[in-house]
Amino acid sequence: MTPVQTPTGGVNEIPPVLLPSLKGRYSKRAERLQQLADAHTMGDYLGFCAQLVHAQQQLLERMPLPPALAAGLADRLGSGQAPLASADYPRHRYWQQLLQGLIELLYADANPSVRTTLDGLRNHTPAHLENLASALLAGDYEQVGSGQALFLWAALSLYFTQLASALPGSASASLGEQRQHCPVCASAPVASVVMTGAQAGLRYLQCSLCECRWHMVRVKCSNCEATGALDYWSLDRQDAALKAESCNDCHSYLKVFYPEKDRDQELLADDLATLALDAEVEREGFGRSGISPFLFPG
Ligand code: FE
Ligand code: FE
Repeated sequence: MTPVQTPTGGVNEIPPVLLPSLKGRYSKRAERLQQLADAHTMGDYLGFCAQLVHAQQQLLERMPLPPALAAGLADRLGSGQAPLASADYPRHRYWQQLLQGLIELLYADANPSVRTTLDGLRNHTPAHLENLASALLAGDYEQVGSGQALFLWAALSLYFTQLASALPGSASASLGEQRQHCPVCASAPVASVVMTGAQAGLRYLQCSLCECRWHMVRVKCSNCEATGALDYWSLDRQDAALKAESCNDCHSYLKVFYPEKDRDQELLADDLATLALDAEVEREGFGRSGISPFLFPG
């Protein structure tokens, strides 16, 4: 860990990883999505995602991770590997129960095209769902298709986020060499955030799957760690509460959030509501290095 000088002259340690807290995570996100949906050109989709996230919240309350599934997590720490590396973590079928729960909760209000997708998922065998999950977690989006990916990811993320929050102590998960990936589950980030509160001013990346945050200094590209080749883009004003950080070395970009400038901000919700910024930065020739949990290609 790196010692930093605090404004008061004391020395604090930068926690390399902040494990996700489950409290209010999905309810705040659903609320923000609904709020952003009003008067938005993508209002219908934002509203639909609000329903999906609300369903995640309901499942978190009704069928939380069984304690037995969190037993033994401590043994996975200290190996130098991401403890929940999504490619080889032995998934419990509990995640499929979450998926079936999401389908039940969403079906009644779903439009015909969503119902077709939900019917398809419902009819897959458990073994086929495992294959789809493995393909999705490996980034093989074509094999999964964007329609199914949205729901599979929502169930998998609810599973991995609960596992991550059950890990014993953030200090025991250390950052490896591959800082562009989550040190807990090895997935790509959604975006980065310049923190307020105890970590004020420090930049953390937020995992798209397990929702951990990990530290990365602000002067480096979050994808290739090059310094000095970064540009910042925003749609409206210079002091925007959210910008795209692009790198002239690896030609990727990722959004940076500044909650200090907008307390209502919620990473996943505000990321989805600012697709116009993605379009603009992509027109400039940069490719998004992170994952959009609400928008999968394929
Ligand atoms: Fe993760
Ligand atoms: Fe880069």
